Amino acid sequence: MIEIDKLTKTYGETRAVDAVSMTVETGTITAIVGTSGSGKTTLLRMINRLVEPTSGEVRINGEPTHAQKPHILRRRIGYAIQGHGLFPHHSVARNIAAVPELLGWPKDKTAARVDELLTLFGMEPADFRERFPAELSGGQQQRVGVARALASRPDLLLMDEPFGALDPIIRTRAQADLKDIQRKLGSTIMLVTHDMDEAISLGDRVAVMDGGKLVQYGPPDEIVASPATRFVADMVGDAERPMRLLSLIPAADLAEDGTAEGSPLPAGASLREALSACLWSGREAVPVEREGQPAGQVTLAAIRARAERHA
Ligand code: ADP
Ligand code: MG
Repeated sequence: MIEIDKLTKTYGETRAVDAVSMTVETGTITAIVGTSGSGKTTLLRMINRLVEPTSGEVRINGEPTHAQKPHILRRRIGYAIQGHGLFPHHSVARNIAAVPELLGWPKDKTAARVDELLTLFGMEPADFRERFPAELSGGQQQRVGVARALASRPDLLLMDEPFGALDPIIRTRAQADLKDIQRKLGSTIMLVTHDMDEAISLGDRVAVMDGGKLVQYGPPDEIVASPATRFVADMVGDAERPMRLLSLIPAADLAEDGTAEGSPLPAGASLREALSACLWSGREAVPVEREGQPAGQVTLAAIRARAERHA
């Protein structure tokens, strides 16, 4: 568990981060979202002490970070930034092995870890181990950057706008990959983004920053359905709210008895996809499945009722 306790950073008159307190559960993704200059990067960099707080503290599993030497702390906390920060003259394998080597892991353990991560990221080890960063696509470089940050199984992975440099299609893939890998490894991730869509789709919890302050912290459906301030509502975007809400709800949650025609929605589909399937097929309902078995249908009427504003 990560506890952030009244963490503050001032630069002269500027309160870059202003008394932020939040608790992050182990094994979850927290997305920190806000406009440019709202203090996201400063908050993140105080956690691994790349920036020293003016006041307040951070505790990782109960241990205050100020009681540890910064270079020791930073070996326990992975850090991935926009672009990827790979060493251009080192192979993919050496890049990923950087922290395990610093920690003095035995060579065979390090090599096994490199291969495990490459496989997890869908990059055949024999094919990619000895390549150099310039011999990879942008999306592959990004994956190696994240693999490197995860290599030593850090207690926490900090990511600052990790997908900012990727084009939209690769970006969606990279987000899905990250979520998948995070679930498999059980990593704890704090990720900064200025994109509310990214925050909502990746975060188990979303922290909204405005002018150095944490203005709302909660699960994504709560941020979308009940924004705490006008600023949060603007970031969510009124026009997008119904679709965002639908995208967060599994279609199977609204299944009712019935045998609608057409091909069933895949497992894990959201109400947004159910709506899309209804509109596209011109039908009033679509069949849903649960664990490969028919599980009734979802109707347009039920979707509409769920997307309506609940005042
Ligand atoms: P974000 O990542 O949300 O864009 P930052 O954390 O980078 O925001 O910056 C928050 C505020 O603190 C901004 O007003 C920025 O100008 C200021 N700031 C950040 N770093 C410094 C610094 N090293 N010196 C002076 N002001 C800074
Ligand atoms: Mg920033």
